[in-house]
Amino acid sequence: MANTTPTGVNNLARQMVKDIVPYASARSSMSGGAVWLNANENALAPSYQLDGCFNRYPSCQPKAVINAYADYAGVAPEQVLVSRGADEGIELLIRSFCEPKQDSITICPPTYGMYAISAESNQTTVNKVLLVNNEQLDLDGIFATSPKLVFICSPNNPTGDLIPREQIIAVLEHFAGKALVVVDEAYIEFAPEATLANELANYPHLVILRTLSKAFGLAGLRCGFTLASVEVINALKKMIAPYPIAEPVAQIAAMALSSAGIAQMQQSVASINALRDEFIAFAKAQSGINKVWPSNANYVLLQVNNAADCVSTLIQSDILIRNQSGQLGLSEVVRVSIGNADEMQRLTQAMQQYFSNTDSKERVSA
Ligand SMILES: *Cc1c(COP(=O)(O)O)cnc(C)c1O
Repeated sequence: MANTTPTGVNNLARQMVKDIVPYASARSSMSGGAVWLNANENALAPSYQLDGCFNRYPSCQPKAVINAYADYAGVAPEQVLVSRGADEGIELLIRSFCEPKQDSITICPPTYGMYAISAESNQTTVNKVLLVNNEQLDLDGIFATSPKLVFICSPNNPTGDLIPREQIIAVLEHFAGKALVVVDEAYIEFAPEATLANELANYPHLVILRTLSKAFGLAGLRCGFTLASVEVINALKKMIAPYPIAEPVAQIAAMALSSAGIAQMQQSVASINALRDEFIAFAKAQSGINKVWPSNANYVLLQVNNAADCVSTLIQSDILIRNQSGQLGLSEVVRVSIGNADEMQRLTQAMQQYFSNTDSKERVSA
């Protein structure tokens, strides 16, 4: 067992490290349970087998993976960086482009948490320009900031909807020569026609983040991609670790990106999109659910009367969903990841019971 007696060695850490509040990921904030609908993972996951020995250091940017992803995304291999998840892409962008204590990034809450967390660990200021109605960019607000990087998440996590393409283009036009515009497309496979990858040729300051964690069902693999102009990719390559991609990860990623792997991913996306639309119809029919956000991804955001109570009641049925009420601009909301048909049936049963109970409680107390 670890010795937990304070020794004072923590005092040796940098002040900014002492100031950081540890990130509670979807995984670490939950202790157990059978139905995992709290981290936007894919329940319809393929399984892989490895062979070979691993005595050699891997390639920094394994060619088979880079070429396969470039083909899949419709860009040149020189425009692709592979990293330890899209999260490492976010961190590399901030470390490569933001001078600590000097530069800033702009984000549009409610949105993905890692932009602010990586900025904090690089002592970089975060300009927060809230979405309008949780769905549109506040362009004037964004243009009033002078960041090095603008992060736009589309489909946005946790709201689920797409940011209008013409707004992203307006941001690109405004920041040409001044800042990079990073479009996080972690969920783009659920709405592939919305990708901005075809704009990379027009905007050298456009950066697109992708991942194998969501539609490809490989969150445990830790493999993500950054797509950008050759200059941006080369800057990131200076900052990335010498061996960021373990050999087993490279092998599995190459299999996932084979034509069979991509076909399998597309099939699971079709099933998930259908299950999601069924769930949205169910949710809209519950009187205890006050708002159901439209979704172009594998999760749905719901506004309820008491989000903490809803989450903890479902835990009693071994179902985990995520309270997103701490997000700027949102209150009493839960995010539900779309699982397999079985899991969704368990969820809707438990929710139906919960909302019919809370409904009658409120009527009694009213
Ligand atoms: C899950 C997620 C990521 C991180 O992906 P990894 O490749 O698992 O690091 C990035 N952006 C958004 C919006 C996400 O939801």
